[in-house]
Amino acid sequence: AKSEGRGTYRFFEAKMGVEVRERRLLEHDLRHAVARGEMQLVYQPQTDVGTGEVIGFEALLRWKHPERGYVSPAVFIPIAEESDAILQIGEWVLREACREAATWPQPLAVAVNVSAVQIHSPHLVGLVHEVLLKTGLAPYRLEVEVTETALISDPNRALLTLRQLKALGLRIAMDDFGTGYSSLSNLRSFPFDKIKIDGSFVRSVDSNEQTAAIVRSVLGLGRGLGLPVLAEGVETEAELGFLVAERCHEAQGYLMGRPSPIGEFAQYTHGTIPL
Ligand code: C2E
Ligand code: CA
Ligand code: CA
Ligand code: CA
Repeated sequence: AKSEGRGTYRFFEAKMGVEVRERRLLEHDLRHAVARGEMQLVYQPQTDVGTGEVIGFEALLRWKHPERGYVSPAVFIPIAEESDAILQIGEWVLREACREAATWPQPLAVAVNVSAVQIHSPHLVGLVHEVLLKTGLAPYRLEVEVTETALISDPNRALLTLRQLKALGLRIAMDDFGTGYSSLSNLRSFPFDKIKIDGSFVRSVDSNEQTAAIVRSVLGLGRGLGLPVLAEGVETEAELGFLVAERCHEAQGYLMGRPSPIGEFAQYTHGTIPL
């Protein structure tokens, strides 16, 4: 049994070695990915639950690695965050998303994910300001999505940054609500304009009473605080039906549209469907 134990240890050690090497390789390639044109944005519609209308799009990053093909952001964003490559990548995302959104019909909004490292960067506010001026995108059409986890390492600093961003006229959404280091006090401490309920709660909302109770109470929370709630990860008509019945404000998910190149949504972004 003892030798087996050691074998297991070696196995883990070897496996960890591969993972560390993998990480370093990806980290290295990430540094050049923007300059080499390997990054692209796809967009996922966000709809008004009451009317079914598209009200905006979330920009989601895709990395087409020359040898590996598409690498998931769930894999490379954490690596980019640890290596600070996220600052350069995040800047590209912001410029690209705002440049794109400025071409859409007036009320359509764009939601951009901003990571913890960006929130704590002293250059973020100036960058957003510059990008809004340069692209001519009306500030109220930009929404920044932040997770609570991005705020906790230095909450005072994060609060200052969020206030300065809001002073530019944009909106701030709390992403992934209900997961990670969720705390109700964050809703009070930070100036959010919207709550995004994580998809893990939305899935099975129609079949699981506990999940349904949680989503109902988040909707009540939103109503009490005067904050619209967006449900993420809506995949079925039954889930959407629940959200309609419970008067959830906004929804996003494969049911309404998968994240896709913006050209696939030309009927909205070129105004052929009245908003
Ligand atoms: P997120 O911000 O919570 O984005 C939602 C994720 O759920 C996206 O995964 C989206 O494709 C996926 N999704 C949307 N609808 C459905 C659905 O109906 N069912 C299921 N199962 N999934 C759905 P994606 O695009 O792989 O992105 C993963 C995460 O990577 C994002 O989670 C976000 O945290 C991060 N990310 C993506 N783009 C960026 C970016 O530009 N900057 C930063 N900092 N993070 C990003
Ligand atoms: Ca998001
Ligand atoms: Ca989310
Ligand atoms: Ca997430």
